[in-house]
Parts: sequence; structure tokens; C-alpha cells
Amino acid sequence: MRILFYGTKPYDRIWFEPMAKDYGYEITFLEVQCTKETVFLARGYDAICIFINDTVDAGMIDCLHRDKVKAILLRSAGFNHVDIRAAKGKVKILRVPSYSPQAVAEYAMAMLLTVNRFTHRAYTRTREFNMSINGLMGQDLYHKCAGIIGTGKIGQAMIDICRGFGMHIVAYDPFPNESLGVEYLPLPELLSRADVISLHCPLTNDTRYIINEETISYMKPGVLLVNTSRGMLIDSGALIEGLLSGKLAGVGLDVYEEEDGLFYEDRSSEIIEDGVLARLMTFPNVLITSHMGFFTKEAMQAIAIETLENAYMLEHGMPLINEVVAK
Ligand code: NAD
Repeated sequence: MRILFYGTKPYDRIWFEPMAKDYGYEITFLEVQCTKETVFLARGYDAICIFINDTVDAGMIDCLHRDKVKAILLRSAGFNHVDIRAAKGKVKILRVPSYSPQAVAEYAMAMLLTVNRFTHRAYTRTREFNMSINGLMGQDLYHKCAGIIGTGKIGQAMIDICRGFGMHIVAYDPFPNESLGVEYLPLPELLSRADVISLHCPLTNDTRYIINEETISYMKPGVLLVNTSRGMLIDSGALIEGLLSGKLAGVGLDVYEEEDGLFYEDRSSEIIEDGVLARLMTFPNVLITSHMGFFTKEAMQAIAIETLENAYMLEHGMPLINEVVAK
């Protein structure tokens, strides 16, 4: 099989290059993202392999179909960046549904601990021998209420971690999993009871801007919010208002609604035009990272294995267990 990889970084090659040799696959790594302008490069390949910031629309699907590209291999669980309806019957979409839920959940807790205890600010202070702890007071998580929105694989891993901290768990999910032994609540009630809220649902039409002006109004004053799922779950304008009013005491964002062209790139020498992101960066109680919750050795290895397994199953006409098909 010949596979064209878009949007790759050195850390992708580390895992994929040796494994692709074992499978006998010919892989070409491109740094450029998959766009309307670059999709034609896939001509002559059996499949393309993309990451979350490679958005593939209906026109690009048609182009791939014309060029006889059989599949889009996603190096991710989420598939909201591909027009799966347009792909139906033309190009197969194969994803990596589960690589390391713990990687993301552990990262969500790391963000929560950081914005609660201000370790990001303490680090920069002490490096300059500013040993003052004024303004760095947090709160115990022990016996506090964690509100988990979305109790799938990552949400469950987060529940386990929060339990380890001695927290009480409340959850919201349209498909409750009673075996988890958590208290499921309607969303407004969860928001009004939780001291800490962590988002673990996918981005869908139902969840777009699930955190907005109205839902923020239900939250307790001083709540901590962490989003490691998808940026579009939060209306950033409403979030800024919530921070300005003091309703939100700390926010950890590993994702942002306008990541394209910014996340995973070094733009440190450039003028950033995104005023909303720039405003968010100015809050001392906001931590923003570049969509890296998944980024552990174990998860990267699992992504590479599963992606190439997906290619293998496609090549050998086996049942495609990780295929995403529009309903
Ligand atoms: P999953 O499919 O196992 O679980 C998602 C859960 O969300 C399900 O239980 C589902 O019922 C629930 N859900 C669906 N609609 C909902 C709604 N309207 N309100 C509340 N819950 C709803 O997925 P997962 O593996 O746990 O991943 C969750 C999300 O994490 C992914 O969709 C992806 O966006 C994100 N993610 C982020 C990173 C990262 O690096 N930051 C890495 C992997 C995944």
C-alpha cells in the first residue's frame, strides 16, 4: 500500500516509519496540511492519513474519489473534521477509536491541578527568585464535587482519577452508564452543583457551544473548568465574560474553537490576529495548551499500531471495525 501522510511532525515519523516497514507499506510524510490546494498530491496513493486539523470537505472527498484514493486513515478518535456524509460510498473513513483514554484524563487532571494551585505561575516566579505566594491560593479538591460531561472512555478514566482525589462525582451523558456508580444529573443541575467541570463529550450538533452564556449562568461562583475534548464545545466569548465576572476561578483549555493554523505551529515571532485567543491568554487563571492531551509514548505507539492495522484490514478486505459511516 502507498499511503500519503499529511500534517506530520517529527514525532509522527518516530512511530510510523519503523512500523510501516514491518507492514511493507510505502509511506510519504508531508508537513503540509491536507487542504483544497494540497489534496491533489494524493493522486497515485491508496490512502491518505490525516490528523485533527486537516479538514476534509465534500469537494476534497470528490477529488480523492476521482483520484482512486480508497481511504482516509485518521490518526485520531474524533472525526468531526471530515465530511463523513460526503464520503459515504466514495472513500472509507477509518479512525483510531481508543488509544489511551488515560493519557487524556491524566492531562485533564494536570490542567485542573495547575489552574487550581497556580503551578504555572509559581514556576515562572521562583525562576526569577520571586518567592512571594500572594495570589496563588487554591482550594482542596478533596470532598469537592466533580461534574463530568460525557462518560465514555476518557470520562470514565477521569472519574477514576477524581475518585482517587476523594471527590464526589456527578455526571451528564445522554447515554448513562449505570455500572459506573456515579450520580447522573440533568445538565443544568450538574452545572449548579459542580465545583469542578471537565468536558469529555464529542463535538456534535448537540454539544456545539454546550458551554455558553446560559449554561455558565447555572455554574457555581468560583468553578474550575477544563476542556480537553473539542474547542467548539465552549463559546469563547461567553467564557471571557464568565472570567471577567469572576464566575470562573480557573480554566484549562487544551483545545480551542479556532485551532487551525495556530495549534501545532510555532508562531512565536508573529503578530497573532486572533483577538479572542489573545484575550484568553491574558488571564492569569487560564492555562492554554496546544491540543496535546493525547501526547504520551503509549498513546502515540497505539495510534501508529491501530492506524496501520486499519490499513491492513482495508488492504486484505477484512471487516473494517474502525470504519466511520454516516447514518
Ligand atoms: P467516547 O466516545 O468513548 O465517549 C464520549 C461520551 O460522550 C459518550 O459516553 C457519549 O454518550 C457522550 N456524549 C455524546 N453526546 C453527549 C452530549 N450531548 N452530552 C454529554 N455527553 C455526550 O469518547 P472518548 O474516547 O471518551 O473521547 C471524548 C472526546 O475527547 C473525543 O470526542 C475527542 O473530542 C476528545 N479527545 C481529545 C484528545 C486530546 O488530545 N485533547 C484526545 C482524544 C480525544
